Amino acid sequence: MTLTEALSWQQSLIDRGNERRQQADFLASLSADPASKVLPISHGKTLMYQGKPYYLDAATSHGRLTVYLGLTTQEATLPAGTELLAVELEEEVAPEKLGAPAEARWLGFRQIAAELSPADSQYLIEANAIVNWHRVHTHCPRCGAATKIEASGWVRRCPEDNSEHFPRTDPAIIVAVVGQDDRLLLGGGAGWEEHRYSTLAGFVEPGESLEQAVVREISEEVGVHIHRVNYLGSQSWPFPASLMLGFIAYTDDREAKPDGVEVTRARWFDRAELLSAVTTGEVAISPRISIARSLIEHWYGERIEDVP
Ligand SMILES: [Zn+2]
Repeated sequence: MTLTEALSWQQSLIDRGNERRQQADFLASLSADPASKVLPISHGKTLMYQGKPYYLDAATSHGRLTVYLGLTTQEATLPAGTELLAVELEEEVAPEKLGAPAEARWLGFRQIAAELSPADSQYLIEANAIVNWHRVHTHCPRCGAATKIEASGWVRRCPEDNSEHFPRTDPAIIVAVVGQDDRLLLGGGAGWEEHRYSTLAGFVEPGESLEQAVVREISEEVGVHIHRVNYLGSQSWPFPASLMLGFIAYTDDREAKPDGVEVTRARWFDRAELLSAVTTGEVAISPRISIARSLIEHWYGERIEDVP
């Protein structure tokens, strides 16, 4: 399996309408349009019904924040050509009050990600990313004045100094470290279950290239010297604001020394060892929804099935 195949959400399934969303009345007219749909978000949760997000009618959905997500480009839970908005609700309102079936439930992305279609997954990731940004960027970082929302939710402008503020994303590198005899290095953290292992990861620091971040993080976390780095693919992970950039990196080192803080255990696996450990349940690797899993399976060469 290639990483591109594994990251099935790689292809954009929504047209974000960068030009259209700049128009002053665009969001208001869509909000009033009975054909527009809304993805409701409340504290990172969305309304799920029969294994799918329940999209509300825009004309009857109101919250403390409305943002334009885009025009759907592929038939999925929603028909292609649907104008889609996100509405943030202050609390998990009873589904009936929103015109949804009473059996609908508010659930978080991690709980539902495995069952989502690629399109629904993309819409939810976009909605969470932009809603999370608004939640913590209410005021101007220069002068402290409350900012006003423009561009259908994609800009905040300061009324005092006229500065524009755009949604931000924090780059983080995530790395499959491959060493002697083509073995893969996986690590575990202090807060994790003892048998859980994953690829190593960390945030990119200001002034640093991605490659430099890979070399630094791997050195800091497990004391391993990286001599070659290849980029493989990325995954948006807006909880709250990360963009995970996936790499495979190579070392000649045989020993890994966990820093004891971020990484408390590290272990080299050859392919047979990893398969055996996962199949017997001795080791649990990252879930299928994560780029970590894609990186591990990219190294392994094919899909690895979890213990049921
Ligand atoms: Zn200001």
